[in-house]
Amino acid sequence: KVRVRYAPSPTGMMHLGGLRTALFNYLFAKKNNGTFILRIEDTDRARTVEGSAKNLEDCLTWAGIPYDEGPARPATHIDIPSYVQSERLAIYQQHADRLLEQGYAYRCVCTPEELENARNLKAKKGAIMPERCSCASMQDKIRAEAKPGEFTIRMKVPSDKTTKFTDVVKGNVQFSNQQIDDQILMKSDGFPTYHLASVVDDHLMGITHIIRGEEWLNSTPKHILLYEYFGWKTPVFAHLPLLLNSDKSKLSKRQGDVSVDSYINKGYLPEALVNFVALLGWSPSESNKEIFTLDELVDGFTLESINKSGSVVNIERLDWMNVNHIRLLLANDDSYLVLAKQIKDSLVQRLAIDESSIDDGYLKRAIHCIKERIVKIDESYTLLAPFFVHPQMNSEQAMKMKEKIWKSDVSPAQANQLLQNLSELDESQYQSDVIYQTLQSTARTLYPELKTDKEITGKTNQLMSVLRYLITANPTGGNLPLT
Ligand code: GLU
Repeated sequence: KVRVRYAPSPTGMMHLGGLRTALFNYLFAKKNNGTFILRIEDTDRARTVEGSAKNLEDCLTWAGIPYDEGPARPATHIDIPSYVQSERLAIYQQHADRLLEQGYAYRCVCTPEELENARNLKAKKGAIMPERCSCASMQDKIRAEAKPGEFTIRMKVPSDKTTKFTDVVKGNVQFSNQQIDDQILMKSDGFPTYHLASVVDDHLMGITHIIRGEEWLNSTPKHILLYEYFGWKTPVFAHLPLLLNSDKSKLSKRQGDVSVDSYINKGYLPEALVNFVALLGWSPSESNKEIFTLDELVDGFTLESINKSGSVVNIERLDWMNVNHIRLLLANDDSYLVLAKQIKDSLVQRLAIDESSIDDGYLKRAIHCIKERIVKIDESYTLLAPFFVHPQMNSEQAMKMKEKIWKSDVSPAQANQLLQNLSELDESQYQSDVIYQTLQSTARTLYPELKTDKEITGKTNQLMSVLRYLITANPTGGNLPLT
């Protein structure tokens, strides 16, 4: 039975890469009727940030990918006392002791200065593993007598070996142990390092597939060696391609927002962000389809269809996906109600409209008119404003528009003629095609010198801008000035 885990270190807010790792684990679990587990890897005390574990959980909930097992939902069929590593210290100690007893690990009493000296010395001679050499020359007696707090526990890495494994994404991978230092497993403060804690937990939690970012690929040979020392079966590994900035450098805060929180605050839909993140490193095998619901992602997901090379994070694509998901959700009766409620709330707040004055049927028709242009739900009030409040002809933006409009070759008299023509329509003719035709015939009569279709269309569009300005104080169909 498939069991996968998302194992973040609570060192800050969840970022896009973290969301992607969580999502791929979730998709794989759901596709295979498996279990998606959340484990908090907080063994690096200095880097642990208060509140970030909560943020990680909140982001999973927001994204609609809740975990099946984890801190707030322990397993019922196996005994897992905690999913938070700092609450599992005795377990790691036992396992480190076991490796010590079996000769796969040793106590290291080197001081940081000694290690540094050894490193410098060895670097000069071109050797790679200063720590091991330094410790091997230590007298066993000193090690045996060292008190807690005075030593770390290191794992032995036989330098003459090569570790080979097959990664589902990367294919055959091989690392020479010569490049690998004797890793610290237990620090002198009694906390395990990532390597020991993660291998022990993956085994005890019955993890079958490890799906994580490529930055952990170098750690895998160390982990495989630990599995061997413990006599455990190794899980399947799948390392996800790096996320890149548009200049192909590794994704970083410096080039834009990376925290999931910042996208939540900007008003993106969870459906859109999940869709966006899913296509960073995964693509459906056959079609060119790009808009997916979560169910469709689950359906199409396989580890084999994960791309090998890095994925560029292009936020414009996210906007486009948000527009598409808004349309999908508005077309569905249940999700329409959820979005309509959010839209209504923003009308009340941003336009200071009394909630009781908003008729649901009218709101629905108004939303229908502008739905093609909503990029973000919490900005939709700007598009809806003309349906609910009088245009603010005196706002700064409106004044600028006014100047521009009367500078164009549509005179106030011509604009009046347009209004006159429109007022002759009766209400049943208030259809976009009839209105367009009226604008077009007005253009023809007011500007008889225009001949080609292209010229007429250009003028018609100009009249449309004028009309929009007169009704909404803004000649474009985009955001309306609301000051
Ligand atoms: N704690 C690691 C992280 O912060 C997890 C790496 C892994 O999945 O093994 O990403």
